[in-house]
Amino acid sequence: MSERIHVAIVGGGIGGLAAAAALIHRGISVAVYEQSTALREVGAGVFIYPNSLRQLERMGLGDGLAAVGAEVGTGSEYYRMDGSIVGKILTTDSSNWNGMYGMHRADLLAAFVGSLPSGTIHTGHRCVGLSQDAAGAHLTFENGNVASADVVIAADGINSVLQKYVVEPSAPEYAGCRAYRGLISAAMIPEWRPEAHQVWMGDGKHFMVFPVRRGELLNYVGFVPTTNATAESWSAIGDRDELAASYAGWDSRVTNLLSKVETCFWWGLYDRKPLDKWVSGRLALLGDAAHPMLPHLGQGANQAIEDGTALAVLLDDCENKRSIGAALESYESLRRPRTSMVQAEARKNGLRYDSKYTDLGQRDKEISSSSAFRKSLYDYDIEKEALALIRARGLVSSERA
Ligand SMILES: Cc1cc2nc3c(=O)[nH]c(=O)nc-3n(C[C@H](O)[C@H](O)[C@H](O)COP(=O)(O)OP(=O)(O)OC[C@H]3O[C@@H](n4cnc5c(N)ncnc54)[C@H](O)[C@@H]3O)c2cc1C
Repeated sequence: MSERIHVAIVGGGIGGLAAAAALIHRGISVAVYEQSTALREVGAGVFIYPNSLRQLERMGLGDGLAAVGAEVGTGSEYYRMDGSIVGKILTTDSSNWNGMYGMHRADLLAAFVGSLPSGTIHTGHRCVGLSQDAAGAHLTFENGNVASADVVIAADGINSVLQKYVVEPSAPEYAGCRAYRGLISAAMIPEWRPEAHQVWMGDGKHFMVFPVRRGELLNYVGFVPTTNATAESWSAIGDRDELAASYAGWDSRVTNLLSKVETCFWWGLYDRKPLDKWVSGRLALLGDAAHPMLPHLGQGANQAIEDGTALAVLLDDCENKRSIGAALESYESLRRPRTSMVQAEARKNGLRYDSKYTDLGQRDKEISSSSAFRKSLYDYDIEKEALALIRARGLVSSERA
């Protein structure tokens, strides 16, 4: 990159900070603008899978994540609601690499923050507008500040304010399901297998548990159908009695854990049909702003990390500022098909987990044979794909010349 590109990222969630870390790793100048007055993530878990962990390790975050993540492996299984086993959960990619952690969201966010030069993140900056001209993209903030950059990445979540500069506004779709989730000390459930990711399925709902923070805490999530649209908010307090009642009569490992829950939160599940476009001029959408997905493959944040890596590789390749538009178009062409596929597969997996099958034998067959799909999901190497695209573009232009 001969001319120095400056990138502004709107949104300091997992997607925005992962993009910042990827860009800085490649020597690209970045400023992050976050509306909250302090960066925070909620007390809940997030899975990091091999497809994003291999990128984070290349950015130098491997040791930091290993220090706070919980290894996930032995004892990871799918069950019917009565506790009988359906099959094993794949916890490796196809090379047998167990590149997988259960993470506390705050730990993941802190790892990103620690990798950024001080002064990169500007909190208390709620973006309210964007304009573009030949000189750059210009952001305005509610606090009266303004900022300019060569590229703006909208990482401002499912209710993105910048999305309308790319596509017609549309509301996210409610999935008719509420996720009750929380953390519980692993010491309170001594019988729990320390590395186990476990999923129970049946009766229109499912329940899952996995370890976070070196295995000191267990993250649980109960997915319960509801006709009342629930806010998409990590901080809404859920009703623990309602949660326990939803799983009454299920496997005693589930009911025992729920009997020890003191507080839980809830979150309404939303996604969107794939957007027609992700890029307009100097503006690119990323993460939930581009492709909110149901959490039934645990890939929303992982796909956002792939997005950030792709942008960093493609912007790093820009020979001059005039080629920024082409780099962003390449980003969209690389990322939209992949995330659209993952969005659709997450919906399908939700039907399996929630047992929306007349023939549960068919559900069990699909769950037991899901390893092939999981392997392809985890084997994907976005850095390699982005570099291949750059090479292919080079070949095309030299053939044309
Ligand atoms: C129950 C549940 C479980 C999940 N589990 C997993 C999992 O295991 N693995 C996984 O990969 N994904 C998981 N996900 C999905 C994952 O949480 C999201 O995909 C991911 O957090 C999206 O990150 P983001 O940065 O794009 O958006 P967000 O996390 O929503 O961050 C957006 C940020 O932008 C800020 N912002 C918004 N508007 C503005 C503005 N105007 N100006 C400035 N800042 C602004 C917000 O304050 C926020 O900090 C799960 C989701 C749910 C609901």
